[in-house]
Amino acid sequence: MTEPEQSRSIAAVDSLQTIDRRESQILAPYATFSKETRGRRYPESAHPYRGPYQRDRDRVVHSAAFRRLSGKMQVFTGEMGDYHRTRLTHTHEVASIARTLARALRLNEDLVEALALLHDIGHPPYGHAGEEALDECLAGHGGFSHNAFALTLVESLERRYAEFPGLNLSYEVLDGQRHRIDKKRVSRLEVQIVDLADSISYDAADIDDAVKLGLTTLSELAEVKIVAELLEEIRRRYRGVSASLARRELTRALIDLRVSCLLETAGRDLARHAFASADAVIEAGFQFSVDREVEEQIGQLESFLYQRVYRHAKLVRVRKAAQDRVRALFGYLCAHPERLPLFHRRRIAAVGLERACGEYLAGMTDRYCDRRYREWVAR
Ligand code: MG
Repeated sequence: MTEPEQSRSIAAVDSLQTIDRRESQILAPYATFSKETRGRRYPESAHPYRGPYQRDRDRVVHSAAFRRLSGKMQVFTGEMGDYHRTRLTHTHEVASIARTLARALRLNEDLVEALALLHDIGHPPYGHAGEEALDECLAGHGGFSHNAFALTLVESLERRYAEFPGLNLSYEVLDGQRHRIDKKRVSRLEVQIVDLADSISYDAADIDDAVKLGLTTLSELAEVKIVAELLEEIRRRYRGVSASLARRELTRALIDLRVSCLLETAGRDLARHAFASADAVIEAGFQFSVDREVEEQIGQLESFLYQRVYRHAKLVRVRKAAQDRVRALFGYLCAHPERLPLFHRRRIAAVGLERACGEYLAGMTDRYCDRRYREWVAR
């Protein structure tokens, strides 16, 4: 940096609000504060105007694995159309709901956003179907879970920085992701919020997508009490509303209902406990409670989705074919490790042949996996 550039940036920073000042003004005492971070594995100096979790969020957004989420399916595959969610748009929806919750509860939004953008980054191609197949392939070699693979990606496989492997994320972000693997430990409130936002987001989105794709209809969905009630309210308020607008209004209403219920109970519980710090929350084993009646109805909705959408013959067929491709490609790679890119071939020494092949495969988008299958296996 030349001298004039340096003085210009310092002058600019002096006039900006620092992250510590900002957080001391807006966060609740039970939130996670940037100044209390346990730091990073490879120590780095503080950034002049971005807090540690803000940097983590940016690092996730700029990672290759994050960009690849656009080519990975959530529930419905790319061939089925362009309307429904991909793993990337799902991730953004989770981040958006989680940020709303965090802001209302005065939690650390930067940490919440980093955790939300990270939460599905370890998904292999073809969603949970791909994950199951890969888990089977690696059964004798530690298995495969997308939650654990997210950590492998950000700790070892991502290469963006000359100084260290991975993204060198803060302890709190990595620990939050570890909670997704071991849910028995009580986690900080920011971690709990992201978990809740994930299910609020996919239940509503899957209804929207499934109806749009013709896998089920609004009248079938109205077998579920909460859906029937919300639809009735929508039709009463907007007389003669079209089916496609009713579907969108229903999606919105479902999210709004659950977010509002959660904020109501969470706000009340947090006021009653008056935790003095984030550590006090964990020591007390506090977990957000949910409105039992609403959650019971959401349970009915989830079993409807499970029976009538996720197990729909059309999806079962697509999933099975995808799993066959994953298994075949995995077998092919293990027999032809010379096909692995150099970086992954070098991983064999550290993690073994099978896991190195599994890591390469897990990083693929759906279409890249299709292409590799066509070019290498199905010739
Ligand atoms: Mg998710």
